[in-house]
Amino acid sequence: CGIVAYIGHREAYPLIIKGLKRLEYRGYDSSGIALLNDGLNIYKKKGKVVDLEATLINENLTSTIGIGHTRWATHGEPNDVNAHPHYSASQNLAIIHNGIIENYSSIKKNLIKKGHVFYSDTDSEVLIHFIEDIQVNTGCLLEEAVRLAMKEVVGAYAIVIMDATNPSQLIAARKGSPLVIGVGDDEFFFASDATPIIEYTNEVIYLNDYELAVVRDGELTVKNIDNILQSPYIQTVELEL
Ligand code: GLU
Repeated sequence: CGIVAYIGHREAYPLIIKGLKRLEYRGYDSSGIALLNDGLNIYKKKGKVVDLEATLINENLTSTIGIGHTRWATHGEPNDVNAHPHYSASQNLAIIHNGIIENYSSIKKNLIKKGHVFYSDTDSEVLIHFIEDIQVNTGCLLEEAVRLAMKEVVGAYAIVIMDATNPSQLIAARKGSPLVIGVGDDEFFFASDATPIIEYTNEVIYLNDYELAVVRDGELTVKNIDNILQSPYIQTVELEL
């Protein structure tokens, strides 16, 4: 139900936790976060964001990239395993997803035939396996695999994907669920609304449906589902905190 992600020079963990708390008003049943330090680490917990924080006291949470999520369960009961982020098969990719992938069960059946193993009951875990499967089969860039997957999936989504093999990159996309990108100085923020972002920058881009945003090496590129480059409109927001 809520998305917060960061790539830049700040510590991602406190920023994401704070952002998730700002999105609590949207309602949720569990939360989670993925960070990149000694590899890709995913932490998730049923309950409130403070319950997640309480389990992480002894963890190494150092990372200048991260994705965080508050979940409002649609597919699979609220529990630790079904909470986001979810891993791909290789465990190199992590996804956070708001929305519903309506045709997930036919995609899941095909992937199971190909040997994929799923740990959760969510539609979201299917989506990240599907994206990685496309990437492995075609040898394309991750962003291209995301675009090809967007052509196949039916439903609503705002997603952010982190790749352990590419720590200077985050990929986001949306159709039907909101996603705002905050543009800072050599740093980028992603969130379901602007409230987790405005403390750091007031320059935001509202991603449109069927658009895909790639941040790589400090550069943001936005293209649409037909691979046409977009010139995103950067708005200045003035919000009271
Ligand atoms: N459909 C996904 C799930 O049930 C995402 C729900 C949400 O938007 O939080 O895990």
